[in-house]
Amino acid sequence: MTATLIDGAAVASSLVRRIAALTSDFTATTGRKPGLSVCIVGDDAASGVYVRAKEKRAGEAGFDSRVIRKDAALSQAELLQSVEALNADESVDGILVQLPLPKGLQERAVIEAIDPHKDVDGFHTENSGKLLCGIADGFVPCTPFGCLHLLRHHFARQGESLAGKRALVLGRSNIVGKPMALLLLAEHATLSIAHSRTRDLPALCREAEVLVAAVGRANFVQGDWIREGAVVIDVGINRDQNQNQGRLVGDVDFPEAKKKAAAITPVPGGVGPMTIAMLLWNTLVSAHRRSGLPPPCLEAEEEKN
Ligand code: NDP
Repeated sequence: MTATLIDGAAVASSLVRRIAALTSDFTATTGRKPGLSVCIVGDDAASGVYVRAKEKRAGEAGFDSRVIRKDAALSQAELLQSVEALNADESVDGILVQLPLPKGLQERAVIEAIDPHKDVDGFHTENSGKLLCGIADGFVPCTPFGCLHLLRHHFARQGESLAGKRALVLGRSNIVGKPMALLLLAEHATLSIAHSRTRDLPALCREAEVLVAAVGRANFVQGDWIREGAVVIDVGINRDQNQNQGRLVGDVDFPEAKKKAAAITPVPGGVGPMTIAMLLWNTLVSAHRRSGLPPPCLEAEEEKN
């Protein structure tokens, strides 16, 4: 078997075009653009790349996109003041503080300081709690939200759904693994979660009809761990130190896994572009709610793809 590629870049571009059309309607109705403010502290190279990509996409979608750059020597109190200023700014619908923060700054305190109604990253405990309880008016973290969108897109094309499928999430971080697991559960998948203490991981992987890998280790998931006909979502973004001058690779050994899987996301061009598209989606939803308008419906937009 040679896997079909799940083309995250193409799915994301299509969704961003839909977001741009909805933004144009929103702006015509309200006389303002959805506002997204990204705060970046210090000069982490990878964060700089992400923030530039977000800025470009937000511009394409017709947003009022702002990047606030702060020196790494910024104090916790100064960062909290900046967040407060964004909370109070009526033109800002979405606030994102780029992680990781430089040493000495407490990420959790900063996340909790963001107005949950503007927390388009979905990391505030109020939004995590809503996801856990199945309350629909929160914000879902962008990376697992993007993975879910890709899975729904893939299964819809097959005339199938996630319901009843055996799904394995590899990783249990607050930003990827745990919310991903909750989203799969909400789609009625039969769920397992694996982590660094899991015993006999290859055997567990071989049971999975849907495998989402979010481990942060280059080429960690071996080809012979993949169940024949599985759908594989590779969240990992790693530098392969062994070959090709540190090119970007995922958590899955892509050349081997694609011989077994029915469908797989590439790295790059899989989950990464979807993360940014979902950030724009969350911001558009926030702008509608804050303007007293009914938010757009993602399922309806998915059907138009
Ligand atoms: P974390 O480091 O926070 O979490 C990694 C998880 O993998 C942990 O739960 C850890 O288990 C588990 N793990 C580590 N080693 C093993 C092992 N040997 N066996 C089994 N499980 C293991 O990473 P993130 O969740 O933040 O990110 C995961 C990957 O996704 C990274 O490559 C990151 O760059 C990428 N990423 C990509 C994004 C995108 O837009 N495409 C966005 C965000 C992240 P334990 O809890 O026991 O330590």
